[in-house]
Amino acid sequence: MQAFVSRSVVTPEGIRPASILVAGERIHAVVSPDQIPGGSHVHDFGDVAILPGLVASHVHLNEPGRTEWEGFETATRAAAAGGYTTLVDMPLNCLPATTTVAALQAKRAAAQGKCRVDWAAWGGVVNDNEHDIEALAAAGVHGFKCFLINPGIDGFTMVTEQQLRSALPHVARTGLPLLVHAELPGPIDHATASLANPDWSRYSTYLASRPDEAELGAIRLMLSLCREYGFRVHIVHLSTSHALPELRTARAEGLAVTVETCPHYLHLSAETIPDGATLNKCAPPIRSRENREKLWQGLKDKTLDLVVTDHSPCPPAMKRLAEGNFRTAWGGIASLSVALPLMWTEASQRGFTLLDLAQWMSAGPARLAGCDERKGRIAAGCDADFVVFDSDREFVVTEDKLHYRHSISPYLGETLRGVVKATYLRGRLVFAEGEFPGEPSGRELSANQSDGSPP
Ligand SMILES: [Zn+2]
Repeated sequence: MQAFVSRSVVTPEGIRPASILVAGERIHAVVSPDQIPGGSHVHDFGDVAILPGLVASHVHLNEPGRTEWEGFETATRAAAAGGYTTLVDMPLNCLPATTTVAALQAKRAAAQGKCRVDWAAWGGVVNDNEHDIEALAAAGVHGFKCFLINPGIDGFTMVTEQQLRSALPHVARTGLPLLVHAELPGPIDHATASLANPDWSRYSTYLASRPDEAELGAIRLMLSLCREYGFRVHIVHLSTSHALPELRTARAEGLAVTVETCPHYLHLSAETIPDGATLNKCAPPIRSRENREKLWQGLKDKTLDLVVTDHSPCPPAMKRLAEGNFRTAWGGIASLSVALPLMWTEASQRGFTLLDLAQWMSAGPARLAGCDERKGRIAAGCDADFVVFDSDREFVVTEDKLHYRHSISPYLGETLRGVVKATYLRGRLVFAEGEFPGEPSGRELSANQSDGSPP
């Protein structure tokens, strides 16, 4: 038996002094610190907090096929350094895209022996694979992802409303969620065409080319399809706060809709992004400071369910840093290793607690990915996945702390609050003080109740 002890253990019921007793890979019980059985191997972290291992339900690992961008080895290393113990990989940016069972098997083969944390896969819904959807569910994907706009990458197509209508009865039958990149091309094409003499080195040009209406229209479409087909819809990376009232209403109506946003929308704002600073490019775009504060309000009133990285790395050349062109630069921000301190820096200033972070970054994503019986909570029966987090210490983001394939980041040089001291995966230390001890022990995660192993 191992005992993980802290005066600040973040459990679903609250933050309290506790000892987490671990037998093998699972949490046996959470007891008071004076109830540790004799002979236990005790790890006492004192005042430093223990949170449940974080669950990144929105990441792009890019393997197989684009390992010059990222890969299982580097992404899971960055994840362990950031306190993440579970990643759910998006079906695009890898080649082949995860839109068939054969592609899922290729991904499994590519992951063998490389992962420092656990992982699972989302399947893709594209313009011609409606007959693969139920087979993908049977083969073990945790849900599906689609794009209502061109994703800007070869190997994965967007879906029109008509194509989506062919796919939705299949999605609904699986009972799994459909994650949607909610931007429509119409308002973006219109806004881009209306730009007079656009200067693409200016952030304001890029922002004007991707208006709130593109997100709003897509979300309205998805809510009406959700009503019609009765599937679970999940809006990924919400950027516009203008959608919050309608999402609130849909929730009140009882629609099965969940929503995520990302650390970059909660930390950065359009007013402070310098012209040419394409490391800040993502889609939908980072909007105004006022918009950012409304997103925080959306977290507070629980219209937003979870916060995910949308870790989407690329080789540095694709960010077009030399010319600083927001039109041609790759849209994506990598943040697995710093998302927790980024969030804590912002959340602690607004009166939120580590319990809120655990809800947004562990329990919420685990529920979305259907692995909440094992992941995302410090509770008996769950996997012994922990992040040991010194919430008072500050550090400066430097390249050596990023750990993913290409150490580029819009956050370099920033001072952030909270340091990940150690990460444990199923009772084993996988990260501590900049090091990754042991062989990669991460494995693919089955959905709730389907792996047959004892609780
Ligand atoms: Zn993404």
